[in-house]
Amino acid sequence: MSRIEEGGIFANYHTHTWRCNHAQGTEREYIETAIRAGMRVLGFADHTPYPFPEGHVSGFRMRLNQLDDYCKTLTDLKREYQNDIEIHIGLEAEYYPSHFEALLRYCEDYPIEYFVQGQHFTHNEYDGWYSGRETKDEQVLADYCAQALEGQRTGRFLYLAHPDLIHYTGDAQTYERHMRALCKALKPLGRPLEFNLLGFAEHRPYPVKRFWEIAGEEGLTAVLGCDAHQPEALYRPQIVQEAKRILEKHGVPIVRELELPTHV
Ligand SMILES: [Zn+2]
Ligand SMILES: [Zn+2]
Repeated sequence: MSRIEEGGIFANYHTHTWRCNHAQGTEREYIETAIRAGMRVLGFADHTPYPFPEGHVSGFRMRLNQLDDYCKTLTDLKREYQNDIEIHIGLEAEYYPSHFEALLRYCEDYPIEYFVQGQHFTHNEYDGWYSGRETKDEQVLADYCAQALEGQRTGRFLYLAHPDLIHYTGDAQTYERHMRALCKALKPLGRPLEFNLLGFAEHRPYPVKRFWEIAGEEGLTAVLGCDAHQPEALYRPQIVQEAKRILEKHGVPIVRELELPTHV
C-alpha cells in the first residue's frame, strides 16, 4: 500500500515557514517530510507580507523585505528537489479591501504562483475583528462572510482556507442562514473549500461540523490543507483518514490536486 492510501495526501498547498514568527523548522525539513510522506505536490503559502499604511506592524506575517528571501530560498529548493516532489510558491493572504490591490502590485515582481485566502480579520486587520475570537455579534459574522465572498469573487485565490474560522457562538439559525448563503454564493465560483487539518488535529473551534454539513448540502468540494507550522504536520495519517471519513459522511468530495493559475 502506498503512503497516500495509508493516510498521506497527494497535494498540500498550505505550508508556512519561520518567517511568520509562529512556525518552526527549515524549508528543507518540510520538503523532506513531505517526500517521506509520499506527497507529490507541496505548496508553501506563508502569511503574506502586507503593504499596510505606515505605523501598522503585524506580528504574524513576514515583512515586505523578507519576500525576496522567501522566493529565492524556495526557488532554489524547487530546483534541487525537482525529481522528488513538485514544489510551488504561494502566499496565504487575507482579502483586505483597502490594501489588496497594492499587495497584488507588490507581488508582481516576485515568482508567486498562487494565493490562498485566509480571512483572519474582517475589514483591514487594524480596524477589524480577529476571526478566531469568539463572538455572538451577527454583524461580525455577516462581515466575515461578505469579505470571504468578495475575496473569492476577485478570482485571485486558489481557494478559501479554513472557511469556518469565524468563531460565531450566537444562535444556530443565524449561523446557518449566513453560512448557507455564503456556500450558495461560492458554489458557482467552482473553487474548493479547505478542510483545515491544523484546526482539526488541535481540536480548535474549526472545522465546524454544521458548516461542513451545509457545504455538503450545497454541493461544494473540499481540499485538505495541512496548514503546517511544523514539518511533522505534513504527515498525520490518522488525522487525514478521519478527515476523509467526515467529508465523505457529509457528502463533500475531496479534490486531490488543483490547477494553479498561470500568474497571480
Ligand atoms: Zn490561516
Ligand atoms: Zn495558514
